[in-house]
Amino acid sequence: MKRTPMVAGNWKMHGSRVANAELIAGVRAALPRGPEVVVCPPYVYLAELGERLAGSAIGLGAQDVCAETKQGAYTGEVGADMLREVGCSHVIVGHSERRALYGDTDVGVARKTLAALAAGLVPIVCVGERLEERDAGQTHAVVAGQLEAVLQALAGSAQGLASLGRCVIAYEPVWAIGTGRTATPAQAQDVHAFIRGRIAARDANIAGSVRVLYGGSVKPGNARELFAMADVDGGLIGGASLKADEFVAIVAAAVVE
Ligand code: PEP
Repeated sequence: MKRTPMVAGNWKMHGSRVANAELIAGVRAALPRGPEVVVCPPYVYLAELGERLAGSAIGLGAQDVCAETKQGAYTGEVGADMLREVGCSHVIVGHSERRALYGDTDVGVARKTLAALAAGLVPIVCVGERLEERDAGQTHAVVAGQLEAVLQALAGSAQGLASLGRCVIAYEPVWAIGTGRTATPAQAQDVHAFIRGRIAARDANIAGSVRVLYGGSVKPGNARELFAMADVDGGLIGGASLKADEFVAIVAAAVVE
C-alpha cells in the first residue's frame, strides 16, 4: 500500500506571535503539494494558529497532552479535547525531551496516546534509543519496549489495535536530536523496518499503512536520502522547522516523484 508522506515540524519552546506569523506565511507561500504537513508550536500559540490555519493544507499539532481524559484538578495540564477545540489535528507524545526532562514513562506515553485518540487527534508517537543504548546493541530492544507499551494499551482499549491505524510513529534516535548528527539512511531504515515488523506481527494490514517518520537533525541536505528509504514515510523536524525555506525544502524532499 502506498503511504502518503508526512512532514511535521516540532517548534519546541520557540516562537512569538510575530515570528510565528512570518514562519507560517513563509511556509504557506512555497508549500509543495503531496506530503501531509503539520506544525507543532507551543501550547499558548495553538488557538491563534488554529484560526490562521483553518481550511489550509497545514495541520496543527500540540507537543504534548494530558493523559487524563476528563477535566479536573490537573494544574498545568492541557486536555486532548481542548487541543481539538482550538484547531489541533495532531499531537506529539513521548518526545525524548519529555521522557528525559519531564519524566514521561512508556506507560504514561501509552495513556497519552489513548487520550489523544479518544479526542479524535492523531498521536505522533515518538520512540528512540539513547547513544549508550545503541552502543550497547540495545536499539531494537529499547524501541520494542517503547512501542510495545503503546501497542498493548491500544489492544486493550475499547477500539482495539485497529486504532493504531490512526497513529503515526516517529523514530527519533536521541543521539541525533538537535546534535547535527543524523542516522544514516541505512540505520534509519533498519529501525523503521524493525518497527513495521513488530506491528506486522500483530496486524499486517496496519503495518502496511501506518506511517513511520524519522526525526533527528533532518536538514534539506540529508532529507531526500532518508525519505527515499522503503520504510521511512517522512520526518519529524525540530530545528529546521523554524526556518521556512529549510522546512519547505524538507517537505519538497518528501514529494513522491
Ligand atoms: C525533534 O525535536 O523532534 C527533532 C528531530 O529535532 P532536530 O530536528 O532539531 O534534531
